[in-house]
Amino acid sequence: MSCRNRDILVVGAGIGGLTVARALALRGANVTVLEQADAIREVGAGIQISPNGLAVLRAIGVEEAVRNTGAPVAKALVLRDRNGRGLARFPFSGLKRPRDYLFLHRADLIDVLADAAREAGVNIRLGKRVEKVEPGGRPQVHLADGESLSPELVVGADGLHSVVSQAVLRREEPFFTGQVAWRAIVTGDDRPFEAELYMAPGRHIVTYPLCDGRLRNIVAVEERADWTTESWSRKDSPQALRAAFSSLGSRPRALLERAENINIWGLFRHRVADKWHAGHVVILGDAVHPTLPFLAQGACMAIEDAWVLAKKLDDTSDTRTALDSYQSIRMARVKKTVHTASGNAWRFHLGGPLALGVNLGMRVAGVAYPSVMTRTFSWLYDHDVTEGETLVPQASRSTQTGT
Ligand code: FAD
Repeated sequence: MSCRNRDILVVGAGIGGLTVARALALRGANVTVLEQADAIREVGAGIQISPNGLAVLRAIGVEEAVRNTGAPVAKALVLRDRNGRGLARFPFSGLKRPRDYLFLHRADLIDVLADAAREAGVNIRLGKRVEKVEPGGRPQVHLADGESLSPELVVGADGLHSVVSQAVLRREEPFFTGQVAWRAIVTGDDRPFEAELYMAPGRHIVTYPLCDGRLRNIVAVEERADWTTESWSRKDSPQALRAAFSSLGSRPRALLERAENINIWGLFRHRVADKWHAGHVVILGDAVHPTLPFLAQGACMAIEDAWVLAKKLDDTSDTRTALDSYQSIRMARVKKTVHTASGNAWRFHLGGPLALGVNLGMRVAGVAYPSVMTRTFSWLYDHDVTEGETLVPQASRSTQTGT
């Protein structure tokens, strides 16, 4: 057990940073988290946590708290055409743990993780922006307010525009995918707890329920010729969103009518980095492998990274061996996930005869083999990086196995 009493600094109190902080603290490390924001807050958006992500949340003892937020369990993904007519329905009952696919409000997940990290003894320091990290056996961390720190290990969980990653790798320029996405949360309706995907030429909408169905999350994607910034927090007007989807039928349009607070961002494709650590500096989550949202796995991959990193650091006192092992365990799975997400975009946006063909194919697949699609993703959702290990007493574990 070699995490005990190690002095570990995590940069970023996002989903990956808080998960690794709790996992490390439960294994006996002295963990400090530096977060640039002056409060733990999250953007207003939903997030899907699939069984592979929930397996880690269970192992670090927060499953019950997550379920208590009123997160609906996903029943099915329903594919619809531009007018809202159903093309296919893919139930999640084909998964090994069908009740473990949850729709969460991001703010609820962050609150649960932050409370759990503090409860495990993690010191979360807010308003602390890291400006530079110098790698080495004893890395130097320089903050914007002039403070410098020298922990035994730095974990960079500082997201898409990671500063810590600059100490590890030379980032390649990402390229614009030709798509922009709006996100919004609207009041819920009486639909069942299903995710819906509306497909039209050059655009699609994904929507799912949140908070016991009182709210609905919307992500609407449109193809565009150019875009400049990669940021999640740029505001846009509801009118612009409605105009972009005005050719859709009344059902999806009614959904967008309820949208008020809108954010827009450009979708960029990144290559998964070949190098995830240097000296005693290591990176995880979006800092090392940002992914497109078409598989809803960015957070789940960060959560899985967090578990594997903490476990490997605990398995050996040789940090280099631990970090090599973390990278090699994670690399293939992360690459496959990122590539699958990238491949999904075109399928949702077809027009003309191709769309007819794919829609017909989906109709047939949805009727004849309703659980085939969900089983196709068994490699993703049924994988459990914890291998059944748990860091907390079993009492809080879920025993649910069916819908
Ligand atoms: P982040 O969550 O981005 O956290 C980084 C943290 O680091 C932030 O708190 C930031 O303030 C802090 N930070 C940054 N720089 C510094 C610095 N220099 N000093 C100190 N602190 C710093 N994934 C899913 O699995 N399922 C989904 O359904 C899903 N839906 C999504 C929907 C949208 C609209 C978007 C944009 C993404 C979605 N994702 C989803 C992806 C997922 O949200 C990200 O992959 C995930 O949040 C990455 O976690 P992270 O901890 O690596 O980074």
